[in-house]
Amino acid sequence: MTEPRTTLFETNPPFCPGCESKLDGATAVEGDVVPEPGDVTICLYCREFLQYNPEMRLKVLSHDEFLALHEDNQIALLRVKLRIEEMNRGGYGFPDKRKRK
Ligand SMILES: [Zn+2]
Repeated sequence: MTEPRTTLFETNPPFCPGCESKLDGATAVEGDVVPEPGDVTICLYCREFLQYNPEMRLKVLSHDEFLALHEDNQIALLRVKLRIEEMNRGGYGFPDKRKRK
């Protein structure tokens, strides 16, 4: 099994539409893959589920769009979200930029 690849967006990095953080990199869930238009991801800072558009900008994935994903992708996103929560609870995560309601 190959190590998950981290892609750095050295020029023109996308910003999270949920918390406006600059997302200068993306790590694959598994394998040697780079993000492409239509791929889904999660913001490390606010935990919004996001999707790359054709220009590799990010938009928030709606609940209906999440439900339309293949079940394997839904599970992968939820696992990563849980892992981010665990890291933050352990004190070695990323700044929590979720908007409080
Ligand atoms: Zn965010």
